[in-house]
Amino acid sequence: MIRLAVLASTADTITAHLGASAPREEGCFCLLREGVSRRGRRLIVSEPILPPYDAWERQETDMLRPSAQWLSALVSRALSERCGLLFVHSHPDPRFPAGFSAPDMTAIGALGETIAPMLDGPFAAAVVHPSGWVANVIDDGAIRHVDRVLSIGRTLRALDPPEVRLTRTAEQHGLDDRQRDALGEMHDTLRGLVIAVAGVGGLGSPIAEQLVRMGCDIAIVDHDRLDTPSNVRRVVGSTISDLRATTAPRKVDVVGAHLDHLGFDVEVRRVHGDVRREDVFRELLDADVVLAGTDTHGSRAAINDLASTYLLPVIDVGVRAGAKQDGTLAALTAEVRVLTPTTPCLWCRRVISAEVIHAENLPADRRERMARDGYLVGGFGEPAPSVIALTFLGASLATCALLALLGSEGEVAPSGYIVDGLLAYAQETQPVTPREDCVCRRQLAMGDDCTPPLLPTAARLE
Ligand SMILES: [Zn+2]
Repeated sequence: MIRLAVLASTADTITAHLGASAPREEGCFCLLREGVSRRGRRLIVSEPILPPYDAWERQETDMLRPSAQWLSALVSRALSERCGLLFVHSHPDPRFPAGFSAPDMTAIGALGETIAPMLDGPFAAAVVHPSGWVANVIDDGAIRHVDRVLSIGRTLRALDPPEVRLTRTAEQHGLDDRQRDALGEMHDTLRGLVIAVAGVGGLGSPIAEQLVRMGCDIAIVDHDRLDTPSNVRRVVGSTISDLRATTAPRKVDVVGAHLDHLGFDVEVRRVHGDVRREDVFRELLDADVVLAGTDTHGSRAAINDLASTYLLPVIDVGVRAGAKQDGTLAALTAEVRVLTPTTPCLWCRRVISAEVIHAENLPADRRERMARDGYLVGGFGEPAPSVIALTFLGASLATCALLALLGSEGEVAPSGYIVDGLLAYAQETQPVTPREDCVCRRQLAMGDDCTPPLLPTAARLE
C-alpha cells in the first residue's frame, strides 16, 4: 500500500492557500521524502513552498501550469535539501468528481518525465477537492495511485474523499450498532485502519483483542516465545496447555490463533521478530498507527522514531505495580504517551536512556556482572511484578488514546498521563511540548534520510 502522510500544519497551510483563490485553480509544491515499508511506501510531506507572484505560466479555471523559471528554482531547492517534490493543485468546483482529470494526468506525466529524474527523492502530485485529497506518485516513469492520504499532527485525519476512502465492507448491522452509536464517523475511520501492535505480552495482547473486536486490521509484532509460566496469567489467548508444549510457542502464534478464532472479518498479520531489526521495523511502516507495549529501551527507541521521522503516530504504554517495603501493594499505575510530530518523544520525556540501551545490547554475562557491581539498577532485565487488572487497565487506556487520536478531542487531550487504578487518580506528565534541542526536531519528516536506531543486520535475536 502507498500512503501519503502530510504534516497537519502543512495540510492546513495548503487548504487555506488554495481556498483563497477559489473558484480559480491554485497550487503549490511541498518537500517530499519517503520511508520504504515492507509492502509499499510511506510518502512524507513536510514543508509547503507557496508560489511567488510570477509562478504560473497559465492559471485559469481548469488549467494551472508552473513556469519553467519556478520549476527550476523548485528543483534546485529540492536538490539542496536532497529530497523529492509534491505538486499540489486544487479542483475547487464541488460539482466535478474528486481526482485527476485527463488533462491533469497528461500534465503530471509530462512534469514527472522532466522533473522526477533530476530529484534525489520521490515525485508525486495531489489534487485537493472540496471533499478531499487524491494523489499519484511517479514510480519508475509510471503513474501509481496513492491508496491513502493522511494528515498527521496531534491527531490523525483521513484526507481522502469519503467515497474513495478504504472501507472494508458494507455496514454489518447488529454487529456494529452500539459501537457506531458511540463512535459516530470515527467507527468508519477505525474500520479502514491498519494498526500495528508492538509486543503482544500482558499489555499488547488485550490491546490486540480490543482492536480486532473494534474492527481494525492489525499486525502483531513480537520476537518472544511463551516460555515463562507467569505470562499465562495475563496473555490473552494463552492457556495452561501452552506450557506443556515441547517447544515454547511463539507469542504471535498464540495470540494470533486466538484472535482468528473470534471470527471477525479482519486481518491479523503475525510478525515474529524484533522491532530493532530492519525487516521488522519496515513492517511497522505499513501501519497507520502503532500501539506499543514493549519493555526494552532499545525497542522503544526504534518505535519512537516512527512518530517524528516518519509522521506515523505511536501510542506507547507502560505499567508498574508498586509495593511498600513490607511487600504490600501500594500502586497500580499505567502510563500513556501519545507520540506524534507535535508532541514530546520518548527522548524529550527522558523515559529511555542511551546507557540502558547500551547495556541491553551487551552479552548476558557482562550485563549480569554490571548489575552485580551496581552499574545497573532497578532489577534490570528481570520480569517486573504485574497483574492482569493492571495490564488490562493499561491496554484500555491505550485504545482510548487511539480514539482520542482519531477524533477532535485529541487536540485538547494531554499527550502524556499516568493513571493509578488502585488509588484512583490521573495526572498529566511533563513535558507537554517537544524539547527544541531534541533529536526528534532535527529528524522531523526526514523518513529514510535519517537512519533509525536499529540493530546491525548481523545481530539476530530470538
Ligand atoms: Zn524528542
